[in-house]
Amino acid sequence: MKKDTKSEMIITEDAFNGIINFIGAHKAERGGFLFGSEEDHIIRKFVSDVNAKTSRSTYTIDTDYINPKIKEEWNTNGYSLLGIIHSHPHGSKSPSAPDMSYFSDLLTYVKRERFFVPIANTAPDGGFKLYPYVFHDSKPELLPAELKVVGNDYQIEKSINKPDHEKSKKKKKAHKKRKKRLKKKKHSRSKRKETDTLKSLLLLLIRTFILKMFFHLIIITLPQIPYKL
Ligand SMILES: [Zn+2]
Repeated sequence: MKKDTKSEMIITEDAFNGIINFIGAHKAERGGFLFGSEEDHIIRKFVSDVNAKTSRSTYTIDTDYINPKIKEEWNTNGYSLLGIIHSHPHGSKSPSAPDMSYFSDLLTYVKRERFFVPIANTAPDGGFKLYPYVFHDSKPELLPAELKVVGNDYQIEKSINKPDHEKSKKKKKAHKKRKKRLKKKKHSRSKRKETDTLKSLLLLLIRTFILKMFFHLIIITLPQIPYKL
């Protein structure tokens, strides 16, 4: 058994079924997006590109639809875009030259430890089949991956430990905040310390602003140019 998950494309049942029910059920070409946490790179959600322009040999990403979705997934689930899937006519198993040029363009500004770009063949075209591929560390080298469909609650060890760690971090932070708040109360009692409170409020504002900027930066948007995959 392989221990290294780097060459695996791990996807939950729900996300996998979503692919089958949309991409797999239509003739090529169709496309959609793969979402999950960058902590474990498990694909947990499939979003179909329902209104994309498609033909028998092209699929054009509907960026007006997906870019707000990317933001929404980040804000509601903490999910990042982990990949893009689309179907090819039967027998075409790997990304085409235009696919590759789009992906390598994308990877120049989307920094991902892993970015999945599976190709699907569909049921109406002669049988559903998924060919997983992955880019590592945003390098333009395409590697075949091994498909692993897991239960919706599946966690890899690393991700089981993380939440506890995060929790204790949060607890510590909350404790610190409480301490700070108490300190602030004391300060406000004394008029002499009013300026300190103002200063810390200002710092808080600046910190919030920086945090917002940071989040804004890490939410990627796909190029608006209608690329054909
Ligand atoms: Zn393609």
